[in-house]
Amino acid sequence: MEHEQALWLPFTANRAFWKQPRVISGARGHYYTTADGRELLDGFSGLWSCGLGHAHPGIVAAVQQQVATLDFSMTFQATNDKAIALAREVASMAPPGLHKVFFTNSGSESVDTALKIALAYHRARGDGHRTRLIGRERGYHGVNLGGTSVGGIAVNRKAFGAVLTPGVDHIRHTLSLPDMAFSRGQPSWGAHLADDLERLAALHDPSTIAAVIVEPVAGSTGILVPPVGYLERLRAICDQHGFLLIFDEVINAFGRLGAPFAATRFGVTPDLITTAKGLTNGVVPMGAVIVRQDIYDALMQGPEHAVEFFHGYTYSGHPLAAAAGLAALRAYREEDSFARVRALEPVFEDGLHSLRDEPNVVDIRNFGLMGGVELAPRDGVLGVRGFEVFLKCFEAGVVIRNGGDILQFAPFFDSTEDELARIFETVRAALRATA
Ligand code: PLP
Repeated sequence: MEHEQALWLPFTANRAFWKQPRVISGARGHYYTTADGRELLDGFSGLWSCGLGHAHPGIVAAVQQQVATLDFSMTFQATNDKAIALAREVASMAPPGLHKVFFTNSGSESVDTALKIALAYHRARGDGHRTRLIGRERGYHGVNLGGTSVGGIAVNRKAFGAVLTPGVDHIRHTLSLPDMAFSRGQPSWGAHLADDLERLAALHDPSTIAAVIVEPVAGSTGILVPPVGYLERLRAICDQHGFLLIFDEVINAFGRLGAPFAATRFGVTPDLITTAKGLTNGVVPMGAVIVRQDIYDALMQGPEHAVEFFHGYTYSGHPLAAAAGLAALRAYREEDSFARVRALEPVFEDGLHSLRDEPNVVDIRNFGLMGGVELAPRDGVLGVRGFEVFLKCFEAGVVIRNGGDILQFAPFFDSTEDELARIFETVRAALRATA
């Protein structure tokens, strides 16, 4: 029996989990089926990833056909037709000037790829002393070493101190409950927080800084919505000093904010965009880094037979993932998903904010179909109450997520008002039961 519980779960309290396992064995549309036969309404679109719903017929058919046609082929010094087509489609949706697409297998790989492109770009231009990378407190950029380094979450960093990339610093995050609690959408207070980048520029000397990476709307640390004018100010400071600006849109891109990209929705164009999740509707793992044309051009140096950028993954542009991606992008178009998100956004916002007077709620934040309800910790111990509410909802047939004491919501793009109401009423009951 020693192999009975061989599975080691990621970002999970493993010992508690195996005392009360939650095992999903099926999914269709907006519902999961558990291994013991229960139906659960998914209020988190997988893990921010499946905005179109589970087992989307167009994606299922595309993947089935692809696996029978071309399962895999070399990705170095050769490619496949689906990867070419998907790159073209992604580039055509991207903000002006971002024309090149480098495929990865995850958000973490997208982030580390983007950081490496930024460093290589400066070096190729003869500016190789620009090696410093700037992240933001409470930023989540995945779990590879580069992303962990620029990430601003202490618990994700503390075990790995010595090998985190040296020469990384962080600007302060934008959340301030006294100044913005319960604001709907973008807080009006806080654009000046972008000036913290000026502080780091002065401290380190701007000529040492290669790139700045932020999530436009931070997800994992609890829906931190950029204050009005904040992203514009970051862009201006980056321009002034020659820093590349990277938007980590692993959650934000492909509809979650009611637009192809956060960059589109906020009208601020970064130099690189990292994506994953919604690219394939979460069906086959895939990420992409979308890059400004002239950054790519700067790297196209040396003899033509030689590799220009020494980086890539065996599965960069995997045909199965690319087929899923093409089908997902087609579905977003055909179902007018991004407009639907915009139409649903006020309904979602009202429902979320209806929880304001429930026990222990200290803030509610939302943008697009991303929502967060922050709770006061139970007895000062972080995360206990949030986890209790998550469990109560799961038992009552609704899946949301807790990041510590912040409840997180990411409903499907075609959620019905009844489904949203059921999610919020289940959470309301759970908040009262755990008061
Ligand atoms: N960046 C952001 C903003 C994310 O939200 C995530 C995952 O949630 C990642 C990177 C890492 O993505 P993955 O888990 O696919 O490696």
